[in-house]
Amino acid sequence: MIGHLSDGINACTGAPPEDGRGALREKDDSVTDAILPRRNADETTMAPRESRTSSPAADQGAIKLIYVAGYGRSGTTLLDIALGEHPAIMGAGEVATLARHVWDNGEYCACGARVHDCPAWKAIVTRWMQGEPDGFLAGYRRAQALTEGLLAPGRLLRLPGWRSHARRTLKLLRGMTLVSGRPILVDSSKLPGRAFALAAMPGIDLHVVHVVRDGRGVAWSLLKGHRRSVEKGVQRELRPKPLLYTALRWSMVNLAAEWLCRRVGPDRSIRVRYEDFIDDPRGTIGRIVALVGERPHDAATGAVPFEPQHQVAGSRHRMQKSIVLRSDDKWKREMPGWKRWIFTAMCAPMLHRYDYPLRSGDVA
Ligand SMILES: [Zn+2]
Repeated sequence: MIGHLSDGINACTGAPPEDGRGALREKDDSVTDAILPRRNADETTMAPRESRTSSPAADQGAIKLIYVAGYGRSGTTLLDIALGEHPAIMGAGEVATLARHVWDNGEYCACGARVHDCPAWKAIVTRWMQGEPDGFLAGYRRAQALTEGLLAPGRLLRLPGWRSHARRTLKLLRGMTLVSGRPILVDSSKLPGRAFALAAMPGIDLHVVHVVRDGRGVAWSLLKGHRRSVEKGVQRELRPKPLLYTALRWSMVNLAAEWLCRRVGPDRSIRVRYEDFIDDPRGTIGRIVALVGERPHDAATGAVPFEPQHQVAGSRHRMQKSIVLRSDDKWKREMPGWKRWIFTAMCAPMLHRYDYPLRSGDVA
């Protein structure tokens, strides 16, 4: 069955979870040291291919990390899932939330299990905590708060604790590559500030994908709330966001993402319009994986459903068994004209910058 999503994200989902508990659905949980997705189970080798990216970091065997930056409801989780279909890439979801609340709250992984029971994250976190003191996660969480803001003092001033935080972050990422058996990681935490911190850490070969979606579609999506449903991937009640709030935040976060792309450089960053990703998943994925020196994977066509794997957090779409990308411009028909006009008036320069038409009826 192809369903229609109600939040304006341009995707349709396959079969929903079988039951109200979010379907602790069948996965190959016999594998504890490598994640083998169902579709790629016959691909036994996920060893790193020779990188075409040359940099001091890459030469020293740094961890290759694709950071997906952008605003919410822009398809960042869908892109994470699509990238994770590649046999060399682990789509890890919003990794920033692992220590913040996912682990302590026992939230759900995209595989359908709680993180404590997920074979991948259980192994990753066990390795991560080895040799660390009591209260490790709480301390890591505090360090995140001091380092992941856009103007975070812990990062900018290299306050005490920065080096140990960087070491622990690298330890987590190395564990993720070891457990997944995949040399490239995707972190779709979205907020640019976290990527600024990752960019400043030694041992991380950071690449950035700036995902942007027409802000009016984002605003229309955010005008609808979602009730809390942990097993369906909604960890807390999502209240409707006022239009003006979204207009300001959408502009600020996208500007910050552009700043981030300049920080990492043009050979390590790419901007992806969500609408283009939906129209041409193969082309979009191909451009992103080329950035990290990989060849496209045949499965990234969009014609076959994408299967979420172990995205630790992100939008509720990750809790679906399969996802078929499909164009959805419902907001263009349903969003009241005056609301669209207000958003357009406030964000016209940014919309124009990303080649979105300012007048209704114009072709995007
Ligand atoms: Zn999992």
